[in-house]
Amino acid sequence: MIDTPALEVHHLTKFFGRKPREALEQLRSGATRDELAPLGTAAVIDADFTVRQGEIFVVMGLSGSGKSTLIRMLNGLLEATDGGVTVMGEQIAGIPAKRLRQIRRRHVSMVFQHFALLPHRTVLENAAYGLEIQGVASAERRERAERILDRVGLGGWGDKMPAELSGGMQQRVGLARALAADTDILLMDEAFSALDPLIRREMQEQLVELQHELGKTIVFITHDLNEAMYLGDRIAVMRDGRIVQLGTAEEILTEPADDYVAQFVRDVD
Ligand code: ADP
Ligand code: MG
Repeated sequence: MIDTPALEVHHLTKFFGRKPREALEQLRSGATRDELAPLGTAAVIDADFTVRQGEIFVVMGLSGSGKSTLIRMLNGLLEATDGGVTVMGEQIAGIPAKRLRQIRRRHVSMVFQHFALLPHRTVLENAAYGLEIQGVASAERRERAERILDRVGLGGWGDKMPAELSGGMQQRVGLARALAADTDILLMDEAFSALDPLIRREMQEQLVELQHELGKTIVFITHDLNEAMYLGDRIAVMRDGRIVQLGTAEEILTEPADDYVAQFVRDVD
């Protein structure tokens, strides 16, 4: 089953606003986001790509380019206006809510920029939260959450409250929670953007290590080119809702598809 793509995205489009049919028609004939502005916002336009199992796929773009909208459609948190997504071979558009929840539980976890920890629960309980949702029994939850906390360098911190931890440590808890659920795919939306540069680099290194060890598929969103280059097996560059280039870090550095990408590349260290 290793050949099944982790995610297949076909002509995925999200339009926020009035008259979605009309907007889609205009988009199909090449309208830009600006041209559609009177009707609403074309947040994602005709995204088309496949994420292989075990790769780190980075989506990079400036603020407002459509990254969060895209990632939220990948696990069905947000319904597409047009196009579709398959998760580990299963198409998710329009399926019953119960089935969608099952697919998410098995296949997809999410890590957020602002950690989204439960403030009144301990670090251990936070790490085990995904398992609780999956219906794993309490003794096993504890054991698995402790193991994964060790793995992310938080062994011994399980009884603390989130507020007692630094930002970097809190994000390790967020990562531990996603990893403990043991899904095939991790979706990470600007997961490290709130961290200090040094801690951020440490987290990037650790993520690559964990990914090699655990063989997860990761979709990682960032507006930071250095982070994209460091993490990405492949990088999709988004601009105004469209993916304007998709390639390896080297391809993007040496052959930027347009001025926008070239501008990004000039900022790299
Ligand atoms: P990014 O994550 O790259 O910063 P977003 O996906 O958050 O970009 O936003 C893309 C565009 O879609 C922005 O113009 C934003 O204002 C718009 N947008 C996002 N969510 C909504 C929404 N729920 N309703 C209307 N417009 C939205
Ligand atoms: Mg965003």
